Amino acid sequence: MKYLSTRGHAARPEFCDILLGGLAPDGGLYLPEHYPQVSREELDAWRSLSYAGLAYEILARFITDIPAADLRTICQQTYTAEVYRHARTGDNTADIAPVHWLEVGKFGLLELSNGPTLAFKDMAMQLLGNLFEYVLEQRGEAINILGATSGDTGSAAEYAMRGKRQVKVFMLSPHGKMSAFQRAQMYSLQDDNIFNLAISGMFDDAQDIVKAVSNDAAFKARYRIGAVNSINWARVAAQIVYYFKAYFAATTNNDQQIAFSVPSGNFGNICAGHIARQMGLPVARLILATNENDVLDEFFRSGVYRPRKAAETRVTSSPSMDISKASNFERFIFDLVGRDAGKVAELWAAVDQGRAFDLSTTPCFAQIADFGFVSGNSTHADRLATIKNVFERYGVMIDPHTADGVKVGWQHAAAVPDGVPLLVLETALPAKFSATIREALGRDPEVPADLQGLETLPQRVEVIAPDVEAVKRFITAHAGG
Ligand SMILES: *Cc1c(COP(=O)(O)O)cnc(C)c1O
Repeated sequence: MKYLSTRGHAARPEFCDILLGGLAPDGGLYLPEHYPQVSREELDAWRSLSYAGLAYEILARFITDIPAADLRTICQQTYTAEVYRHARTGDNTADIAPVHWLEVGKFGLLELSNGPTLAFKDMAMQLLGNLFEYVLEQRGEAINILGATSGDTGSAAEYAMRGKRQVKVFMLSPHGKMSAFQRAQMYSLQDDNIFNLAISGMFDDAQDIVKAVSNDAAFKARYRIGAVNSINWARVAAQIVYYFKAYFAATTNNDQQIAFSVPSGNFGNICAGHIARQMGLPVARLILATNENDVLDEFFRSGVYRPRKAAETRVTSSPSMDISKASNFERFIFDLVGRDAGKVAELWAAVDQGRAFDLSTTPCFAQIADFGFVSGNSTHADRLATIKNVFERYGVMIDPHTADGVKVGWQHAAAVPDGVPLLVLETALPAKFSATIREALGRDPEVPADLQGLETLPQRVEVIAPDVEAVKRFITAHAGG
């Protein structure tokens, strides 16, 4: 399988070439040259596979430059019950990404947050960690990952990379801005290859520092600076797997259809759902849920994509969806405009200058229903009401992001054909967001047994000024490779 840039660059790299990098040279995002089509026979054969077996079958369509036996081993090492060990009480603890029905056969949660950091990012990041290790080992190389996090991404990356010899992680977080649980998750790691830098500033300051360091080409090359951000193609590819897994779990045969409601921020998760559908998975609807930061909902309702300025981004109680620009959205638009890279380059020339684009009067927007998408948004009051409602009706506690997905899913129930199950993707467990749970339910969330007392463990973190040179000095002193 070869990869192309959404903006038309001539190079056609393979998977391992784009694994460690970020954007294509022209600033575009990588996508496979074509989406592999899954035949009815394959769907029938995949129905009975384990998660690791299914991951291998799907990823092998996209990763043709790693020998099959090695890729299979990587999948088997990644998707184990030991790694994804935080299943809800009553569920089969050996199952990876199980469906938890709220109304049997009709409406349920797809449990994606059973990994080490209790957010769905573990589903892809754990694979990324093992792929990095494999490819770096093969090439005799090392890498220094630099990232900024407001919570979930940083901890998922650290738990995926801890103890990997060829990888060091430098993770910037806003000092004092994350929840106590999120801080404890990251800062309690004692591995030598993990460095937590708490920036005395906001998340945007941390993000700006990462950009400034990455824009210093000489420094980037000298210290082999890499990224694991949400535009990484391997993360999207890994996420395709659970859409298939969910379909097999929620249906009894391959004549049936399914619908998904997806709490969305950077459009990474739902982009994987879109690709699964393009591959032939019978998905009737992809319901996109935003919070008050509704840039994506606005597009699907109006055809206008108007990225917000950082200052316009609201701080909400589903913070992992507080985005002003959806970095993976370019991948979907590429497909929507008929894979016309020239058109995408033109649209993103406007976006990169902070302007909007409007597809409302174009023929492609008229066809948007063919892609299965509908959308809606959710507010703080909606989240509280939904968390309460789900707890009272079903005795199940959900986190604020998942609540956005449930709220918008219910709103679009009429758009889901009769007899088609609707699954909401559970993107985090409530333990991570106890303040909002207390506000909604007047009680604390359940904390998995192995994570109780996490907040009392010794923490390892360096508080550092929001200063590019200070961060570079720290990397210079501690970098590997
Ligand atoms: C990252 C995240 C999201 C948003 O996912 P995208 O892939 O950016 O759309 C939603 N919920 C939680 C809990 C997250 O961590």
